[in-house]
Amino acid sequence: MRKPTVAGNWKMNGDLENTKCLVAAILKGLEKIENTEVIIFPPYVYLDSVGQQIRNVKISYHSQLLCGVQDICENDNGAFTGEISTTMLKDFYCTHIIIGHSERRHIYKENNELCAKKFLISANEGYVPILCLGETLEERNNDQTQEVIAAQLEAVIATAGIESFQNSIIAYEPVWAIGTGQTASPEQAQNVHEYIRTVITKYSQDCANDIRILYGGSVNAKNAKSIFSMPDIDGGLIGGASLNEKDFLTICESI
Ligand code: PEP
Repeated sequence: MRKPTVAGNWKMNGDLENTKCLVAAILKGLEKIENTEVIIFPPYVYLDSVGQQIRNVKISYHSQLLCGVQDICENDNGAFTGEISTTMLKDFYCTHIIIGHSERRHIYKENNELCAKKFLISANEGYVPILCLGETLEERNNDQTQEVIAAQLEAVIATAGIESFQNSIIAYEPVWAIGTGQTASPEQAQNVHEYIRTVITKYSQDCANDIRILYGGSVNAKNAKSIFSMPDIDGGLIGGASLNEKDFLTICESI
C-alpha cells in the first residue's frame, strides 16, 4: 500500500517570521488529516527554525509533518563554494532531498549524470530522495516525453542501482506545467506515471508496485482531487500553492 504523500516546495520564498507562521498553521491544519505523509521544503537557512518547530510534535496518529531540502551537493565536503552536503544536514531535522527539480536542471544546467550522483549520495546517507522527472513543451510536442523520462530515470538507476529506489519517491513534473497555471490533465499525468512504473518494472516488479510517484505542476486547491484520483498518482509535489496554508491544507485533504 503506497502512502498518500504531499510535498510543499517553498523554493526561494519567505522570511523567518512568515515561515514560522506557515509551519504553525500547517501543523494545526494537519491535526484533522489522517494517513497522509506531508513534507515541507523550506530554504536551507530556515531549516533550523522549522526543525525546532516540528521535531517531536505528534500531529495525529496517522499523519506527520516532515522536512526536507530542495537540493544537495553531490560531494561530501571540501572546496565547493556555496554548496551544502548531506553530512551537514545531519545537524538538522531533515529526512528528504529533492533531486533534479526542473529549475535545477534548466536554470542551473544540471544534467542526468549530476542528478544521479546527487541521488546516490542522498540515498547512501539515509535520506529519501525525491527524483523529479519531466519533459519540456517542445519535447512533448515532438512526442519525446517517454524517451526523456526514460533517460532521466535510467541514468539514476545505472548509477545508484534499483535497490536505492526502495526508499525513494519519484515526482513527475512536466516542465511546461511548473509555475505556469497550465496543469497536465489527470489522464496526461496518469499516462506518464503508468509509463514510469513500466520502466521500473524492467528492473524490479516490487519496486514498480511500491514506489510513490507524485505529480507536480500547477496543482492547486481546485484541481488536486481529480489529479489525485488517478490510480498511479500517489500525491503531489506542490510549488506556488504550498506557500498558502489554506490552499496547501486543502490539497492535503484532497488525497
Ligand atoms: C514545483 O516547483 O515543483 C511545482 C510543481 O511548482 P508549481 O506547483 O508552482 O507549478
